[in-house]
Amino acid sequence: MIYINCPYCGERNEDEFVYGGDIEHRRPEDPASMTDAEWCEYIYTVPNVKGWATEHWWHVRGCNRWITIQRNSASNEVRTAKGESDHG
Ligand SMILES: [Zn+2]
Repeated sequence: MIYINCPYCGERNEDEFVYGGDIEHRRPEDPASMTDAEWCEYIYTVPNVKGWATEHWWHVRGCNRWITIQRNSASNEVRTAKGESDHG
């Protein structure tokens, strides 16, 4: 169990959030220009860093906002949380 300090709601249980992925794993700008192999690589090869990673989380059972946290995937320690202005 991890606790995430939402910048809008305070510290909450992870059950209130939905994991949104590693911040470095961005959707390609022009998927239509990609080969099928490149598209499959994007879809199925997801970063899975052991250690610190910066991740998107959606506070779906709280403020309904996207936030960014740093989480250690080995220990589940959470360091920082901030709001994301580019998501609804
Ligand atoms: Zn929140």
